[in-house]
Amino acid sequence: MPFPTAARLTIDLDALARNLAVLRIAAGGAQAAPVIKADGYGLGAGPIGRRLWAEGCKAFFVARLSEGESLRAELGPNRPATIYVLDGFIPGAGSRLIAADLTPVLASLPQIDAASAFAAAQGRALPVALQVDTGMNRQGLALDEAKALAASPDRLRHLDVRLLMSHLGSATDPADARNALQRSRFDAIRPLFPKAQASFAASAGIMLGPDYRAELIRPGISLYGGGPEERPDDRLEAVATFEAPILYIRSVAPGEIIGYGSSVVATRPMRLAIIAAGYADGIIRSSGKGGGYAWFAGARRPLVIVTMDLIAIDIGDDPAAIGQYVELLGENVPIDEAAEAAGTVAHECLVRLGGRAERVYVGAV
Ligand SMILES: *Cc1c(COP(=O)(O)O)cnc(C)c1O
Repeated sequence: MPFPTAARLTIDLDALARNLAVLRIAAGGAQAAPVIKADGYGLGAGPIGRRLWAEGCKAFFVARLSEGESLRAELGPNRPATIYVLDGFIPGAGSRLIAADLTPVLASLPQIDAASAFAAAQGRALPVALQVDTGMNRQGLALDEAKALAASPDRLRHLDVRLLMSHLGSATDPADARNALQRSRFDAIRPLFPKAQASFAASAGIMLGPDYRAELIRPGISLYGGGPEERPDDRLEAVATFEAPILYIRSVAPGEIIGYGSSVVATRPMRLAIIAAGYADGIIRSSGKGGGYAWFAGARRPLVIVTMDLIAIDIGDDPAAIGQYVELLGENVPIDEAAEAAGTVAHECLVRLGGRAERVYVGAV
């Protein structure tokens, strides 16, 4: 085997398929429309989209128009699917939506009017989704706007509203009262658009139970192994494994300072493995101070420092060799725990990964 020289990001498409199966069972028959924005949470929207399509998914969500265009190209003509663009209808982008057969998720009255005007000029109805804001105050029609719209169908005359959706802000905490409030608001709007399919739950919402599922679920992070309550969930498997090889092994005497500044001081004799990954590869710098760990030779090893290109871990007296891989994220270092150490969410840990790493896909695409 050649000596490893760089970090490696392994993406297990079979694990992805198994996570999808788990979510489908949890969702009790609702249609699964995976969220593969931000290049499939950094793991590759093309291979991820093609594998999920082969597993029966026929609708996907992306954030940007350009993501929709590249996903359409990655799926190709033989994998027809609805691609929803969460950014909605950007003025001037109508012809690009049509060319790539993308369905905008309209989230404001100006977007609705711009999409209508475009569709009228085209002389044909434009398929769209509508997003309603039920309490997150980020994107979506206000409730009274949605009601007014339903009361003046003329305004939607040129639009074919296929999907009505909303997004939960507190679903990772099942006890949060905002969940039930958002649900009751969504339930009040749904009957106003009786022909549209309804979608409410992302990963965390799916696990809130049947009242939150609606007809189409939008799982993102859970497909990639993130737990619905921001901690590892035994039902879900890690899809991404990020490893980097050991470049140096060194001993540090008590009292010696490690890395930049003077905040990390050896309080006992330490043996450090210095590995070829850093925050430039997406391992968040602050995780070194927040209790972050790597996995080596069957045990957790604290991250002592995280610099741009190098990470030091404490390996104690264990045998180690230059070129051995250390796991920085994966089955033994769950993204939810890495996220907690970095003071963030699993989503951010994934999307930052691997710009510089070698990528390996496991399982059929
Ligand atoms: C990102 C996103 C999702 C997926 O969320 P996860 O927490 O990753 O499952 C679903 N719906 C909307 C509107 C989103 O922006």
